[in-house]
Amino acid sequence: MKRRLTLHFPREAVHQPITYRLAVDFDVAAKILRAQVAPNQVGTMVVELSGDIDELDAAESWLELQGLGINRALGEIRIDSDRCVDCGICSSVCPSGALRFDPAEQRLRFESPRCLVCEQCIPSCPLDAIALLLDPEPVLR
Ligand code: SF4
Ligand code: SF4
Repeated sequence: MKRRLTLHFPREAVHQPITYRLAVDFDVAAKILRAQVAPNQVGTMVVELSGDIDELDAAESWLELQGLGINRALGEIRIDSDRCVDCGICSSVCPSGALRFDPAEQRLRFESPRCLVCEQCIPSCPLDAIALLLDPEPVLR
């Protein structure tokens, strides 16, 4: 199974070879979706962990023992249609295809079920039309 987490590194944990230890000690593969970790500073990393459920639980416990903060509430990406001008820039950084530019319609398409909540699209938008809602209200249709 897969699990997406946001990891917050304290300064003293930044140098740890986290993905290596997860693979070797827990048989958990870690795919880094986004990372902002500078030497000797606190950092944040969004990872997708793959393994069986017991290994994932053990790996999470180990991460917490190393002093890392774990955020399991990933939230939801929302596009502000009043701000968006359908330029398509954000679709070029989206690793999952959740954001796609439709050339026929000249429109941005967003398929939220495909979204990994990696947040890479947020800084790419020149109009601040993309936001992460941490406690999203259900969308009424
Ligand atoms: S957060 Fe943005 S860039 Fe990342 S998968 Fe979702 S839509 Fe794509
Ligand atoms: S980068 Fe911003 S304005 Fe351009 S398509 Fe994406 S959300 Fe819309």
